Amino acid sequence: MNPFHYESADTLASAFAALQQHPAAQPLAGGTNLLDLMKENVVRPGALVDINRLALSTIEPTPQGGLRLGALARNAATAYHPLVRAHYPMLSAAILSGASPQIRNMASNGGNLMQRTRCVYFYDTATPCNKREPGTGCSAVGSLARQHAILGASTHCIAVHPSDMCVALAALEATVHVEGPLGARAIALADFHRLPGEQPDQDTTLQPGEIIVAIELPPPGGLAAHSAYLKLRERTSYAFALASVAAALEVNSEGRIARARIALGGVAHKPWRRLEAEDVLTGQKPGNTAFERAASVLLEGAQPQGVGLGHNGFKIPLARRAIVRALGLATAGTPGPERPNATTPGIPA
Ligand code: SF4
Repeated sequence: MNPFHYESADTLASAFAALQQHPAAQPLAGGTNLLDLMKENVVRPGALVDINRLALSTIEPTPQGGLRLGALARNAATAYHPLVRAHYPMLSAAILSGASPQIRNMASNGGNLMQRTRCVYFYDTATPCNKREPGTGCSAVGSLARQHAILGASTHCIAVHPSDMCVALAALEATVHVEGPLGARAIALADFHRLPGEQPDQDTTLQPGEIIVAIELPPPGGLAAHSAYLKLRERTSYAFALASVAAALEVNSEGRIARARIALGGVAHKPWRRLEAEDVLTGQKPGNTAFERAASVLLEGAQPQGVGLGHNGFKIPLARRAIVRALGLATAGTPGPERPNATTPGIPA
């Protein structure tokens, strides 16, 4: 048991003050990941600043025609919110494909962005891990790495980001609003999570003392009618993605793709998006030829990791097929809210 200070904040100002006052303090929201990490001795914050009493749970339309999701709105409340279901069904499906109902009832939107990798070596404090203890080495490189990255990895870390919600947010071009002692700023979701590089202990670009206050979605345009979230995993529920795809298409009156959005999960240290893959689709008739081309661009540079049965080379063709399938599902029309993870036969949700 590691002793830590606990304090509940009533206002953002008191939260900033408490975070500054205590060394290695961390904000506590739903706690569904942070408390697990503390129990496993993976992280040892000197203080927890409980921010659950802050008024950050509102989900409301923006004047621009988008939607602002409060950082403390629970994942379940977000997924089932009528405006999210109607205008951002891909986000609803992505959230509902993650974790369990109990966890989704507790987990916050801000916390979903801040969750840590589920790399088994990160959780095993008996093994070296650059993310847990910088400079100790990476136990996954050249070892069993079935769950690990095929894109954007470094020699220092090959972990993947575990969130489903963030994959949909990346495809939707969300913006993360944060506040800190030095003021407020907005960060494009694409810039919020980092690739590991030489500093795998840094998951995000959030600065010390800053707190996520909201996630803003731009107006959906025509993307809501043709979108899908496809998640492939070892078992049909309560498992992290081996590969997942958030895909949305805007189809014009001539039946051609006017706008495309694709992001991948389970393959990199952050949701993986490459604008060139979306450009390849623009102006094309939806179909497997165009989808295959987009998949090739999106997966350019993919590298397998690991050894033996722990080798993850299978993820490259798996991701390729998932991209094509997700774009096909999006073309057919967004699955209804009663079956947010609907897929075609033979492909597990
Ligand atoms: Fe740690 Fe990253 Fe290596 Fe996993 S992949 S052991 S998180 S450094």
